[in-house]
Amino acid sequence: MDSSLVSRLHLTPRAAASTVSPCFARLPVSGGRGVAAGLRCQAQAGDRDGLYMRRCVELARKAAGHTSPNPMVGCVIVRDGLVVGEGFHPKAGEPHAEVFALRDAGDLAEKATAYVSLEPCNHYGRTPPCTEALIKAKVKDVVVGMTDPNPIVASKGIERLQSAGIDVRVCAEEEAICRKLNEAYIHRMLTGKAFATLRTTLSMNGAVVNQIGSGADQPGGYYSQLLKEYDGVIISSNLAKTTTLPISHEAGAKQPLYIIIALGENSQLNIPFLNEECASEAIVLTDTPITVEPAGVEVSVLDRISLEPILQLLAQRGLCSVLMDFREAGGDLASLLKNFQEEKLVQKVVVELLPVWTVSKGIDLSFGGSQSFPLKDVEHKEVNGIVLLEGYV
Ligand SMILES: [Zn+2]
Repeated sequence: MDSSLVSRLHLTPRAAASTVSPCFARLPVSGGRGVAAGLRCQAQAGDRDGLYMRRCVELARKAAGHTSPNPMVGCVIVRDGLVVGEGFHPKAGEPHAEVFALRDAGDLAEKATAYVSLEPCNHYGRTPPCTEALIKAKVKDVVVGMTDPNPIVASKGIERLQSAGIDVRVCAEEEAICRKLNEAYIHRMLTGKAFATLRTTLSMNGAVVNQIGSGADQPGGYYSQLLKEYDGVIISSNLAKTTTLPISHEAGAKQPLYIIIALGENSQLNIPFLNEECASEAIVLTDTPITVEPAGVEVSVLDRISLEPILQLLAQRGLCSVLMDFREAGGDLASLLKNFQEEKLVQKVVVELLPVWTVSKGIDLSFGGSQSFPLKDVEHKEVNGIVLLEGYV
């Protein structure tokens, strides 16, 4: 079974029954709607929009790591206080969330409210516009989580729905979670660069260590989850030469593209843990012409190896997000981090703190660009004796 098939099997665009809370008990598609069911499932009017919008986000996240260059989107169709249809966008090239949810709802979509985590599209791409699907299904109103920053959508979806007599409102209270869901897509749309997250592991005395905490790279571990969610991972040639390439062990995960930075290499770079059949899963960015083993790995010789053109190149290739896996303080990646804050090249930082003390003679184990600054929206958690911190630049 090939890996794309594995991905598809994990991406059925319907909610698994076990994840549906009592409030999302479904209306039987062919009649049988009872008063008791209606009462049980009726949410308080005040938090109804928020409840359904959070469900849209939950549905959308089922396709994490699969939708680039498209955003993750979830959709819930609600009629008379009951969920009659649900859907999400499983991957680029496949129908959008609204189409799956409307199919799921069938005739019950008529006079219903459609909740969508992102403004419906109004243009012909690889699939017809979702606005037309909603109009055809005769929904009564549409609640969107946020407007689409894509200039070819940008409020035109909302205008089209309104011109067809559909009432449209933005769910202001959940806009923040809808934005966070697609922070990478939004960043790429607005800047033309991939959203970059810097990840590293520190010892208790603040040194960068080439280790991953216990269980972090196993299913459910933070590192395995990050690799699932990011479209690419930037690693140094040193890491590619000496250790296995980072892999997500999450069910149905699509592995990230490996972006290998090779500075000052001699004529040849060997990547021993990459099979020739998987050569297309890696690209090497280098400052001098080199031969790469296995054959078939794309090599780009850049005039100047710096983060800005790399992030632009990755965005052009359809990557919304990239994880810089920073394993050694003095390596090739450190030079990429010069001015990362001033030039807004890195958006997020994830730091794992291990309960170890590391001493390495003659090497400066610190790193960090050229400017001091406080991080924003910092969150932390403790898993298996490691402390994980994340914050925004
Ligand atoms: Zn659409």
